[in-house]
Amino acid sequence: MTDTLVFYSGPDPFDAWRDALAPHLDGHVRIENADAVSDPDTVRFALVWMPPEGFFDRFPNLELVINLGAGVDRLVARGDLPDVPITRLSDPEMGRMMASFVLFAVLRHAREIPHFEAAQARREWAYRHPRAATDITVAVLGLGELGALAATEIARQGFRTHGWATRPRELDGVTVHCGDDALPGVLAEADVVVCMLPLTPGTRERLDAEVFAAMKPGAAFVNVSRGEVVDEAALVAALQSGHLSGATLDVFAAEPLAPDHPLWSLPGVLITPHLASVALPKSAAPQIAANIRAVQTGGDVVNQVSRVRGY
Ligand code: NDP
Repeated sequence: MTDTLVFYSGPDPFDAWRDALAPHLDGHVRIENADAVSDPDTVRFALVWMPPEGFFDRFPNLELVINLGAGVDRLVARGDLPDVPITRLSDPEMGRMMASFVLFAVLRHAREIPHFEAAQARREWAYRHPRAATDITVAVLGLGELGALAATEIARQGFRTHGWATRPRELDGVTVHCGDDALPGVLAEADVVVCMLPLTPGTRERLDAEVFAAMKPGAAFVNVSRGEVVDEAALVAALQSGHLSGATLDVFAAEPLAPDHPLWSLPGVLITPHLASVALPKSAAPQIAANIRAVQTGGDVVNQVSRVRGY
């Protein structure tokens, strides 16, 4: 009996993922879209992005759930998740795509692009002398797979770069700080604060009014991880009062962002619709196939998610 991999995603195309995966699975596994599974009992693997509630109950013989992305917050919070290993994608292309977006956002604020865009709208030649990267401090909150790569790219551009996480690590050019006590000091120094924290019970609305107040007056804020990590009302207040000079926001507590949300029209704020990085079939397929083969042959899976930590 051939094992089946079931695929479910709203935004990601089934055909592209099937075609990328098939050569790596070498006929050992049938790949089927969730709405066309021929025999649910043969489904041992699931490659999913936000499947509907009750989805996993359809497949009693699941042995591996692969999250079709890096952020696992919605998956690990579910009630119907089977007691099998959960893995996520750790894809170099995804990391590069995220690092380049974060670099763009940091440069946008470091080079005061919102000031020039506002001046252009007034047809005004509003010269401001650029500051050297070495005079600008950037703080990256969260130094995981994606956060660490973004932080080292920022450091490579010459910015004074600080990182914040729970555990220490060595990162080229990045001064790493750990734990809650270290956060106010990191925030007080930074001209640009970048949020790359996963959404967990410990980080939900972690960036609240107190955190924004601890940021340097005139600092800019970038969020590319999850909207729920931020108390959005506190962010709006910090922007409205001018305490923060601007923000680049890719993620929101409720997506799509409502048309009447105040963030749309605040000065210095750029809104993008959750696309800082995406999973790419060609580069992610080999690691997905390797994990499936590991389960079939009794080997160890990689990129496993800790249900306890939530990331
Ligand atoms: P990881 O899960 O690999 O790393 C998380 C990092 O956050 C770790 O450094 C961890 O520290 C730190 N962290 C977690 N909890 C805390 C806490 N309470 N206090 C301080 N630090 C904490 O995440 P990635 O870097 O791979 O990705 C980050 C997030 O980006 C994802 O969770 C996802 O939500 C988001 N994302 C957004 C995309 C987009 O298009 N906008 C695309 C892909 C991902 P430590 O390791 O020391 O425990």
